Amino acid sequence: MELTIGHLYPDLLNLYGDRGNIRCMQKRLEWRGISAHIKEFQLHDNIDFNELDIVLLGGGSDREQKLVCQELQSIKSDFKQYVEEYGVVIAICGGYQLLGSHYQIGAETISGLELVDLYTRQEEGRLIGNITISSDLFDMPVTGFENHGGRTYIGENVSPLGKVITGYGNTDERDYEGVHYKNVIGTYLHGPLLPKNPELCDYILTKALERKYKESISLSPLDDTAEIRANKYAQGRK
Ligand code: GLN
Repeated sequence: MELTIGHLYPDLLNLYGDRGNIRCMQKRLEWRGISAHIKEFQLHDNIDFNELDIVLLGGGSDREQKLVCQELQSIKSDFKQYVEEYGVVIAICGGYQLLGSHYQIGAETISGLELVDLYTRQEEGRLIGNITISSDLFDMPVTGFENHGGRTYIGENVSPLGKVITGYGNTDERDYEGVHYKNVIGTYLHGPLLPKNPELCDYILTKALERKYKESISLSPLDDTAEIRANKYAQGRK
């Protein structure tokens, strides 16, 4: 078995170790004897979504988001088809915001991909710090680090990724965090996210393998002692 992971615009969308998510997916596949091919796409590269099993969009500053925004309009319809056909996407912070219809920064509007029913608006002050959430998808809490000026409002027809235990999440309300729609996960959690949240990583890998091979997949367990320790340590950080 093998999976191809597409990393979109790593030179622009890659904050706080988001690239480490790719390494984590690759290693957790390889440790199970599954090959992982990584394809990095730079701005203006042609992207054939039919070749991809997982797409990663990392975080970026407002400036970088503006730089990718125009390019996103040209890949939007292919990306939409991929998402509607249960293509797997993991989008972090700036990448998460770009999944939605737009990101409003004062009088300026950055157009998004319109893949998921959500929008983001920059509001007073930045939401910065360690964050822990609980998600119905996983037994373990999900932990990470957030730093965003945008507040994300998700639609009625999509679910949040989880509930905030500590930290902020989507808005100042400290109630919900991230989004889950079909096989798309959007979240504000950097860190990188996946190494200390192995259940989330395996969830993504399982969904991608099941979509590709059209069978139910049960990944063999790994020794996650270090990962679980890292998760617990991060949960306790202020
Ligand atoms: N530029 C966005 C914001 O500040 C996202 C930042 C990020 O990816 N950390 O809201």
